[in-house]
Amino acid sequence: MSFFRELFGMKKRVGFFSFTCCEGCSISFIETLNIKFEEYLSKIKIVNFRALKKEDKIRRMEIAFVEGAISTESEVRKLKEIRSKAKKLVALGSGAANGYPSNQRNKFSNEKKRFIQPLLVRFRQNKTIEPLKTYVKVDDEINGCPVEEKDIMRKMEEYLA
Ligand code: SF4
Repeated sequence: MSFFRELFGMKKRVGFFSFTCCEGCSISFIETLNIKFEEYLSKIKIVNFRALKKEDKIRRMEIAFVEGAISTESEVRKLKEIRSKAKKLVALGSGAANGYPSNQRNKFSNEKKRFIQPLLVRFRQNKTIEPLKTYVKVDDEINGCPVEEKDIMRKMEEYLA
């Protein structure tokens, strides 16, 4: 079957993208390969994945898995580009789905906010850290910090059916 998928371009094109986070959720995906490597090899083609590929031009794809919250305008622009090139965009992990834990600074006291202000300017940080859905339509989410491997595998089964 994998020969035919390859021959007729039946493999689903999938990308993984990381924003403001620890990248632990994409590591969870890599861990699933201990069990699912052969199956995924026959069913998906990974077009973007910083941890596995040098190429960083964003390609058209069926599914974009996006981890991390959004903290800068350049991240907003990149996220919108991913959205425009992906049929389905999946928030991978709680940072992408609801902003946590990166968004904890949104609730800092005024004193603490004043203290970190020079760092926000220096690193061109937005005033608040937001989940993906603040800026783009999100089709699905896999929650957890980090996401559990069994939840990724369950969703993959659904998407690759
Ligand atoms: S949700 Fe948690 S584990 Fe996943 S990338 Fe964000 S900070 Fe890391």
